[in-house]
Formats: sequence, structure tokens, C-alpha cells
Amino acid sequence: MTLRPAVASDLLIDGKLVPGSGGTFDIVNPASEEVIGKAADATAADMDSAIAAARNAFDTTDWSRDHALRARCLRQLRDALLAHADELRELTVAEVGCPVFLTHGPQLEGPITDLGYFADLAESHAWTQDLGEATPMGIKNHRELRSEAVGVVGAITPWNFPHQINFAKIGPALAAGCTVVLKPAPDTPWCAALVGKVIAEETDFPPGVINIVTSSDHAVGAQLSSDPRVDIVSFTGSTATGRKVMAAAAESLKKVFLELGGKSAFIVLDDADLGSACAMAAFAVVTHAGQGCAITTRLVVPRAKLADAIKATGDAMAGLAANDPTNPGTICGPLISATQRERVESYIRLAVEEGGTIEVGGGRPADKDKGFYVEPTLISGLDNSARVAQEEIFGPVLVVIAHDGDDDAIRIANDSPYGLSGMVYGTDETRINKVVDGVRTGTMGINGGIWYAADVPFGGYKASGIGREMGVRGFEEYLEIKAVARPV
Ligand code: NAD
Repeated sequence: MTLRPAVASDLLIDGKLVPGSGGTFDIVNPASEEVIGKAADATAADMDSAIAAARNAFDTTDWSRDHALRARCLRQLRDALLAHADELRELTVAEVGCPVFLTHGPQLEGPITDLGYFADLAESHAWTQDLGEATPMGIKNHRELRSEAVGVVGAITPWNFPHQINFAKIGPALAAGCTVVLKPAPDTPWCAALVGKVIAEETDFPPGVINIVTSSDHAVGAQLSSDPRVDIVSFTGSTATGRKVMAAAAESLKKVFLELGGKSAFIVLDDADLGSACAMAAFAVVTHAGQGCAITTRLVVPRAKLADAIKATGDAMAGLAANDPTNPGTICGPLISATQRERVESYIRLAVEEGGTIEVGGGRPADKDKGFYVEPTLISGLDNSARVAQEEIFGPVLVVIAHDGDDDAIRIANDSPYGLSGMVYGTDETRINKVVDGVRTGTMGINGGIWYAADVPFGGYKASGIGREMGVRGFEEYLEIKAVARPV
């Protein structure tokens, strides 16, 4: 079977592949600016049908109680997708503009493989837990806890790591026994729709258990936050949209799970190897053109070593030029769209208006006349109060900031509305641990450490979100607990 649609991709609603009632919309390759295909454009009525199908599948079938069926379907999906990996790789790079090297990890094969982790959890989870006897109010009772699926999940996702984020929601949600309506970002509909085609044609998922609704209209996603038939909204995207989702969900008092923005700090202590720290900071911020919420975008270095840090980071960035994402050596590809490039360029202009210096980059690559590329850019001369140090840019843009010792570095890292991730480079374990303990974020790396894995819960403090994705903790976001007692 070939995945590439002859005309346009379809929606997956109630087990059937169907066209969108709103026709189709174009999919643009961000590296070439060419229209590479069309996606089904769902309307409010299509979303209504998808929610109805998910509700019906949850309320009238055995899906939420048949743990073995769920594990089997998830493994079947993993194996079917892996069999299509090369075709999916080509389509993913064309649609997302992500460097092809990342498709061997978090942009494709990693999250597909991780479906097996969630299948294992469906089987290994303690669905009942015996609490033994107690005598409340003088009456002896035997008690147990039962885990149950939350119900219908509305999953709303962004464009930067579409497979990773789609599967980090649908994997644990389905493993927990929920049914799902997935609404992917308008920029990356194929990554979800092609998975929908595989689900419909190559797996035994019962109708309505998983529905995939692509649309050019953000309002179609917003239906998931307000519709009372949806029990939980699992959202990844910008903090501004996350606030709207939470406000809309309040009306029907549904659970919300939010993975939002970040402005993470890369802290270099004065006993660190400055050269390797700066090389890693440069590599991190240019990867996928900086379009990652957990990327470290503030480089916080000892004041006495500021000039050396700027030189080392700039030299490393110069060797990481933006390039064609199909090239296996490319680390920095294009931004997703002309709109996103304009946003990044406006922040670079703002840095200069704020009194900053562009040490490296700052423009579009001279050798590219097509594609939404921006040069890897290093900004100096500002402190942490500058808007470019406070706001998420979502591009290959690093702001270097001086610190006056370990406590000051921790203060700067925490002087942010966000609290998603961070990195510390140093030698002395006691000092490193003080930084790790002091920085208020959901993940931290030490000396280049990589925390990303299926069993590691990911999420943020403060305006970076509510809840955790992946790991046992992420699976439990999709579970309710029922306490049951009987007299003995
Ligand atoms: P976005 O918030 O504009 O859109 C995300 C999704 O929300 C899209 O599917 C969009 O159609 C939908 N949407 C838009 N308005 C909506 C509304 N009112 N109600 C419901 N859904 C709505 O974000 P984006 O531009 O696609 O992605 C970039 C942002 O996402 C960045 O700010 C980045 O930090 C963040 N992000 C966070 C994480 C994380 O895990 N913390 C991961 C990736 C991206």
C-alpha cells in the first residue's frame, strides 16, 4: 500500500476514511515553498460526527475494559507504521521541513516505537488495587481502588514535532481505555491523516475509538474544548492558545492537560568546559531551526567569560548553517511557514531595537532563494529583562546573558514566565545539584544529558503547562480512580 494520497488525505471518523465537508486545503513544503498535496478540510459538522463516534465507542463498547485488545491494536499500529517508515519519513520531511536525521528519533521512529511502551502499560497496569480492611465509623469494610479510563479525549496538537506529540497523546490515551478525537495543526495535517489511513486499513481498532480530523480552521479544534461530550482536552501548543482552551473547558468542567511554551536556560558554571558547553548550546538552538518548546534559548554564562562564550558559540553556529532538510547532515532546516519566519525576524529586529548586538546571523541565508529559512542567530548585549530573553521566539535564535555566580544563574533561569526545561554545565557535583534543585522546570539536563524517552514524564511548571506527558505519569493523566468498599 502506498500512503501518499492520490488527491487529498481523508478524515478518519467512526472507522471510515471520509472527505472533509469543507473540501481541501493546500500542504506547503517549507523548504521549497511548493504545494505538495492537499488535506481534507473538516467543518464543524465533521468534528461533531467525530466527537459523537468517540462518545459512542466509549459508552457502548468494551474498549475501555478490554486491556488485551488495546495492547494488541497499539502493537499492530506500531508494526504497520514501522513497515511504512521510509515512506512516512519522506512525507514527514516534506511536510514539516524537519531535518531527516531527526526522523530516526523524535520526529518519527522514536514515537512510533514508543507505542509499544504504552501497549505494555495497558497490560501491566494494576487496574485494581486492594486496600485491605478498615473500620470507618465502627463498621468494618473491605476497600479496593479501580482505575478507569477518563472517557473521550480531545487531542489538539502543533506542527513542530507532529508525530511525537500526536503519539504521546493517542498512545497513552488509547492504552488507558479512552477514545480519542485528534485535531492536528493546519500546517501538518498529513502526519496525522496518513496514520489515520494506516489505522483504517491495517489495524483492528474498533470504529470510533480513534478519529482524526484535519482542518484549516482553528475553530474546529476549539469545539473539542467546549463540547460536553469530551471528558478531557489534551493540548500542546502556545501558552496563549492553552489559556483559551482552559477557559473554554471550564464551562463543562472537563479535565485539561496542557503542554505549552518555554524559554529554557542553558547555564554554564565557571568550572565548566566552556568550549564544549557553547558548542552544545549552539547545536541545541539550531536543531530543527529552534522549533522545539524545550530547546534552551537563553545561554547564561559567567560574566568574566562572556566574550569567550560569544566567540565559541558564534564559531559553532557558523558551522551549523540552515540547509535542505533532506540532506542527512542538516541540523537546521527551514521554519514551518512564511508567517513563522516573519515572527522570528520581527524578534531579531526587536533585539536590535532593545539595544542588543547580532553577533552571528540575523538574516536569511544568502544561498537560498526558496524556503522559509532563517540563519542561526546569536544575540548579545542584553540582560534577562529584554523581551527577546522573556518571550518564546520559536526559531534558531539564542540570547547570551551574563551571570554573577551560581545563585545569580539560578535567579536568571527562574526569572521567566515559563518553566519547561534547562541545562547546566559544570564540574562540581554539589554546585550542579544546587542548580538542578533551584531551577523550577519539569526537565533538566546535566552536561549534555538527554532526558527524552518513552518512560520519562515531560511537562512544565508555571506558564509551561499543567500535567505530564509520557511515562507512567503521562498514562495516568488518562485515568480516573474509583474507590469501592463493601462491609465485611
Ligand atoms: P498554536 O497554539 O497556535 O496551535 C496549536 C494547536 O491548537 C493547533 O492544532 C491549532 O489549530 C489549535 N488551536 C488554535 N486555536 C485554538 C483554540 N482557540 N482552541 C483550540 N485549539 C486551537 O501553536 P502552534 O503555533 O501550532 O505551535 C507552536 C507553539 O506550541 C509554540 O509556542 C511552542 O512552544 C508550543 N509547543 C509546546 C510544546 C510542549 O510540549 N510544551 C510542544 C510543541 C509546541
